[in-house]
Amino acid sequence: MDLLAGLRAGLDARRAGGLYRRRRLLEGAQGPRPVVDGRRYLAFCSNDYLGLAAHPAVVAAWRRAAEAYGVGAGASHLVCGHHREHQALEEALADFVGAEAALLFSTGYMANLGVVTSLAGRGDLVLADRLNHASLNDACLLSRARLVRYPHLDLAWLRERLAGREGRALVVTDAVFSMDGDRAPLGALAAAVAGRGWLVADDAHGFGVLGPQGRGSLAEGGLTPSGPVVLMGTLGKACGVFGAFVAGDRVLVETLVQQARTYIYTTALPPALAAALRAALAVLAEADEARGHLFDLVARFRRGAEALGLPLAESSTPIQPLVVGDSRRALALARALESRGILVVPIRPPTVPEGTARLRITFSAAHRPEDVDRLLEALAEIGR
Ligand SMILES: *Cc1c(COP(=O)(O)O)cnc(C)c1O
Repeated sequence: MDLLAGLRAGLDARRAGGLYRRRRLLEGAQGPRPVVDGRRYLAFCSNDYLGLAAHPAVVAAWRRAAEAYGVGAGASHLVCGHHREHQALEEALADFVGAEAALLFSTGYMANLGVVTSLAGRGDLVLADRLNHASLNDACLLSRARLVRYPHLDLAWLRERLAGREGRALVVTDAVFSMDGDRAPLGALAAAVAGRGWLVADDAHGFGVLGPQGRGSLAEGGLTPSGPVVLMGTLGKACGVFGAFVAGDRVLVETLVQQARTYIYTTALPPALAAALRAALAVLAEADEARGHLFDLVARFRRGAEALGLPLAESSTPIQPLVVGDSRRALALARALESRGILVVPIRPPTVPEGTARLRITFSAAHRPEDVDRLLEALAEIGR
């Protein structure tokens, strides 16, 4: 058996289906005008919604902390890697989102695996929105609970499924759907699951963007991460750096420290990174003006796209996908934009369901209104 030939055939099939993925080489800092593969583009694809990835105050905090503490944590949190900077960041995060406690994870992917596998196991039922992020899906599978993926945002379906059920349930959802930009009705979901189990809200795209001071989707809906409501937030998107956290009641966080394998069996984040994150959180909390500008850009894009008759999605967030359906068509459109100096990534299956390939356009507060106009002009040209 020729193993390599098997792999080659798999790659060829991907190419033929317009599904081959390629990494681009970025130079310099993340921002709306990155140099990619040696050429400068106007980009609409990062999740750096507030333009904090290269913020001077954050960079300075990182540098100072690296000089004070070095660059490596040296061990996992439960061995001897839990630093004062980690603790301070956890307290700041908990305070910010209105939770009793918060726990840092290295990535959102790991946080989702950790929280879901700690709250659900064999014999439990996990109900997951069909358009949830891949990391939540993987977390559900790893939990060994019975997994049912429900139709996107179908509350009636969910209520029926939960009604009269014995035993513990866990509802997991993206708060802002990562490839669609629409939002889960968190209040209604929390009410549906109350008394029956947990609600885990993955706010990777709401934290820093939505709610008062950017406190996130729960805060926007007047909810806090407490009781059955658990928040997962990421720190590599609007917060601009890297990492993630889970917030909820203290007893939940204590349980995660004991049980979450993606917390226990991994090296702690560099303390200097935690220091940079605390600086980023302080900037983010005061960034109402940037958030206002960001939503102005979103509105500008939607007005323009509507006038052009583009297939806008039901999204009020900085994630504005144009669903075109066919993967090869999405790829061709992205290439046409690229030839005009604009970078937008085509998102294809299996990241999104079959037949719903799209251009995933994202905006950042670092964009200018003229940038949005340039994107709209390019889309108009391509449409002709
Ligand atoms: C990006 C993302 C994650 C993963 O977060 P990382 O910190 O990048 O690992 C989890 N959930 C959603 C919805 C995301 O968009």
